[in-house]
Amino acid sequence: MRSLSDPFLTLHEDPSDAEVASHKLMLRAGFIHKLAGGIYTYLPSAVRVLRKIESIVRKEMNRAGGLEILMPSLQPADLWESTGRWEKYGKELFRLSDRHERSFALGPTHEEVVTSLIGGLVGSYRQLPVLVYQIQTKFRDEIRPRFGLLRGREFIMKDAYSFSTSEEDAKAIYQKMQEAYKEIFRKLGLRARMVEADSGLIGGNLSHEFMIMAPSGEDTVISCSSCDWAANIEKAEGITTCPVCQADVSRVTAIEVGHVFYLGHKYSLPMNGLFSDQDGQEKPFVMGCYGIGMSRLLACAIEQSHDEKGIIWPVSMAPFQISVLPLGPVASENPSVISMIEDLESRFPDEVYIDDRDLRAGVKFGDADLKGFPVQVICGEKNLAAGKVEIKVRKTGEREILGFADVPTRIS
Ligand code: ATP
Ligand code: MG
Ligand code: MG
Ligand code: MG
Repeated sequence: MRSLSDPFLTLHEDPSDAEVASHKLMLRAGFIHKLAGGIYTYLPSAVRVLRKIESIVRKEMNRAGGLEILMPSLQPADLWESTGRWEKYGKELFRLSDRHERSFALGPTHEEVVTSLIGGLVGSYRQLPVLVYQIQTKFRDEIRPRFGLLRGREFIMKDAYSFSTSEEDAKAIYQKMQEAYKEIFRKLGLRARMVEADSGLIGGNLSHEFMIMAPSGEDTVISCSSCDWAANIEKAEGITTCPVCQADVSRVTAIEVGHVFYLGHKYSLPMNGLFSDQDGQEKPFVMGCYGIGMSRLLACAIEQSHDEKGIIWPVSMAPFQISVLPLGPVASENPSVISMIEDLESRFPDEVYIDDRDLRAGVKFGDADLKGFPVQVICGEKNLAAGKVEIKVRKTGEREILGFADVPTRIS
């Protein structure tokens, strides 16, 4: 029998330096390990969640016409100087120099790099529009890195950039990306709300954020009690009533998981990102950019879905769909259990986690609830003797006793 028990132990007490649920649970359930402030190793279960998030995001980006690329993290300072951001970005930008004393930044975002890339490759309106994206590690020297993956100094982002010939076309892509984002969050099983936003250091004059309402959030969303208007507090400054319908507004704390910006000429003008238009004239690209916090999403899923026992993974993101708990020394050698597991593995390839550690039943139950895989198949000695096992649904706590043969069909 294939043993999947990993060496990353679960902790049975809350780690002392974790304040929010997702951070505590990820440390306790063996998903992440801290190397330094705001810098984490993703352990096997977390990597599996990230891959699932990536696969949903890739599908929607590709469907929207995006082309996946991978740009360097190490970025020459002169690119940043050309837009004035070498100065403006301030202390959040990680800076270093090479052996020849040339300055570099560790990319916190990629507008400069991508504008120089597309500016060099695309010269004619015939090659436009272009939408490129990447899933990559970003570096930001955050003032207060905290809450585990929610605010790291090194984190994973999906960032996309669009290049169009006109404002109209650029805004059509902006719209399309808003729709793609809604679809991504829907498929991930997360409740995210799109709100009007401020453009911050990225710039531009039109932007929306995707927010997950959570008490641990560091953002505040102002939303109307009667129409569907909502905005980030920085955008809504001073507003005490809804600007659309004048009804009362309320405020809630939220976590920003995605952000779309209409950039216009903000980068193409200073960087000479030009194409020749139908009339033969040289014009700057009209740009947009679109980010999703991939590693932050992992934490947000837990913020939105957990209980006092542990994580409750949405099915779309769960590291494994099924966890099998053979109890007692003979259970994992029982031929019927082995063939049931084989059957499960053939129907749910790479989705079956087997906890065959030689531990007390209570410990295994606790760990299974803590890790939060959607379905548990509990193989206790008494049931086994009658040719049966027990199934438990993590989310509802529902239990059912079934014959071995019925397990795979009951789960699907
Ligand atoms: P925040 O307001 O939380 O600092 P931001 O507005 O600076 O985020 P953007 O530049 O809009 O972030 O980046 C796109 C996405 O990257 C954000 O919507 C967020 O999900 C994610 N993100 C930004 N900073 C971090 C971080 N330090 N750790 C993890 N994810 C982050
Ligand atoms: Mg920030
Ligand atoms: Mg923000
Ligand atoms: Mg933002």
